[in-house]
Amino acid sequence: MSDEQTRPHDHATVQKLRHFSREQGPERVVHAKGSAAHGFLEVTEDLSQLTTAGLFQPGARTPLLLRFSTSAGELGAPDTAREPRGFAIKLYTEEGDYDLVGNNMPVFFIRDPAKFADLVHSQNRQPDTGLRSNDLQWDFWTLSPESAHQVTMLMSDRGIPRTLRHMNGYSSHTFAWINAGGEKFWVKYHFKTLQGIENLTEAEALRAAAADPDAHRRDLRRAIADGDAPEWRLEVQVMPAEEAAGYRFNPFDVTKVWPHGDYPPIPVGRLVLDRNPEDFREVEQSSFSPANLVPGIGLSPDQMLIDRIFSYRQTGVEAAEAIWAVEPEEIGRYANARHAADDDFGQAGTLYREVMDDAQRDQLVENVVGHAGAEVSDEVQERVVEYWMQVDSVLGARVEAGLRRTP
Ligand code: NDP
Repeated sequence: MSDEQTRPHDHATVQKLRHFSREQGPERVVHAKGSAAHGFLEVTEDLSQLTTAGLFQPGARTPLLLRFSTSAGELGAPDTAREPRGFAIKLYTEEGDYDLVGNNMPVFFIRDPAKFADLVHSQNRQPDTGLRSNDLQWDFWTLSPESAHQVTMLMSDRGIPRTLRHMNGYSSHTFAWINAGGEKFWVKYHFKTLQGIENLTEAEALRAAAADPDAHRRDLRRAIADGDAPEWRLEVQVMPAEEAAGYRFNPFDVTKVWPHGDYPPIPVGRLVLDRNPEDFREVEQSSFSPANLVPGIGLSPDQMLIDRIFSYRQTGVEAAEAIWAVEPEEIGRYANARHAADDDFGQAGTLYREVMDDAQRDQLVENVVGHAGAEVSDEVQERVVEYWMQVDSVLGARVEAGLRRTP
């Protein structure tokens, strides 16, 4: 007699099947695939003149969870895709949770939140083919010239980190720090890897994806389990609030950095990851919102940041409880104006000409040609050449020559 015949109305089986069909929650809309670890932030410097936030007082040690993620890939997608990585930190401070929802690159593709859904749609699987489309990605980027800085980083050697331990993290956005006297400073956070920057070439990344799609998740777990706790040095760039209006770049434009020569990074302390999650639900159910602030820290008029304050409440697995440390009027009114040196291509050109060496420039050209040479229409390719010409005319010419050679 079969099991079916012996248990036609087995209540326990029906319950088990009902549970089974509902046991997985929906994926996050973006940054679906994450890897995380616990650790702490230890402040080694005295920044008490800049902020009253308890977690940044000298000697403070704050437990935290850091979730790394790819951005467009689904839960099962390979870790070694060419994508910006999320670098989201939840700091369990004595004044409440403080979330720093950063990335491994210091800038973002767009500054106007109205374009955010279009950006994500251009990266996602397409509704007609079910495939991701390089054509649509370049179509979006070339029609949004403010993306050039981030795309230069994405197509550079840093577009695919060797491991999650070998990359930096950045707040990207500008935040406010407020001191005991009520003075306000604009700040940007930089987490510099002490493991050193190491990246994968496109060919190495493809091999890694085939051999182990979870290579980064496995590497992080293994390093921590082996007692090789990864560490980052936290630095901040600090701008007195009154300097913002006259600064040569709009300091709230997330497509730009503040050059170190203008605002040298100040050391804050160290971030260490020394404990693996015991249950993967700690990773899957972790949720972050830039609205989770603590006293002494506030927002800035960066339009993308303001938009994230609202939209993250909709996308988290668990809705995060926002702690409003600042009233919205404290953010300040600040026109999203262009400053003297603001343009869409300048900082990308500086990165290409003044920061990269010849080998990195060669890799950038190779990566752009490889990506824009794969199933991208002639019309979009023409715009791709024009886009890189504006970053740098030699770079543009090299991309054009490379695309001509691509069948
Ligand atoms: P600096 O020479 O002082 O610093 C250059 C920075 O570029 C370093 O932080 C370096 O990181 C980083 N870098 C190197 N290669 C890449 C890459 N392929 N993708 C992303 N970052 C990279 O220069 P400035 O501060 O005067 O800025 C010059 C340019 O450097 C900017 O236009 C910007 O493109 C880039 N940059 C600037 C940053 C900033 O906050 N000022 C941050 C990151 C990039 P590392 O120290 O880890 O090697």
